[in-house]
Amino acid sequence: MEKILQGVHEFRTKIYPPQKAFYKRLAAKKQKPKALFITCADSRVLPNIITNTEPGDMFQIRNAGNLVPPYGSSLGGEVATIEYAVTQLNIKHLIICGHSQCGAIHALLKNQVPEDLLGLRAWFNHAQATRQIVARKHGRKTGDRLQIAATEENVLVQVNNLSTHPCVATGLSSGEIHIYGWYYDIATGGVRQFDQSQGTFVDLEDVAFGTSPLPIREW
Ligand SMILES: [Zn+2]
Repeated sequence: MEKILQGVHEFRTKIYPPQKAFYKRLAAKKQKPKALFITCADSRVLPNIITNTEPGDMFQIRNAGNLVPPYGSSLGGEVATIEYAVTQLNIKHLIICGHSQCGAIHALLKNQVPEDLLGLRAWFNHAQATRQIVARKHGRKTGDRLQIAATEENVLVQVNNLSTHPCVATGLSSGEIHIYGWYYDIATGGVRQFDQSQGTFVDLEDVAFGTSPLPIREW
């Protein structure tokens, strides 16, 4: 806790003062985030750091395993935040980002959630399709290869779950909303994006900056 308290002090005394005008402007206007960023609660995955963005740039949802309850399965914080992001903030770009060494995916694969953790067990139901797809498609993989494959499959399952929400489905059908499936590697800092035309995750660096002929593929 000491590190956190010291950090708050340093923010207020060292980091905030030279950026005071920026923060005043942020407070004076309604927020206009450019994207909804959905990722894991993992302490090593920090959306604004990995995208080098600032306060005000991204609306965020974070939870164990970057899961999105399909529409109708539950009414809770995730659903409310998606509806608010899309209908009130008019966000058009929705990113779901899984990551390497994800403890939630590891637990999901191992079926290791203790019986008495009812919340977590219920939560992982939103990734039941991931379990089944991995068993069917990646049954022969082990170790890191299995973990990476499962994390990628889970991103795709959650992209599908996200698209079941009426406000999202409406925007997808009119071409106004775009969903991106990402995989972030903690050790390398790299991000890969699912490319629908290739059916695989490709380095976002190549896609975005032209070393690959592919345009950024949107869902
Ligand atoms: Zn995680």
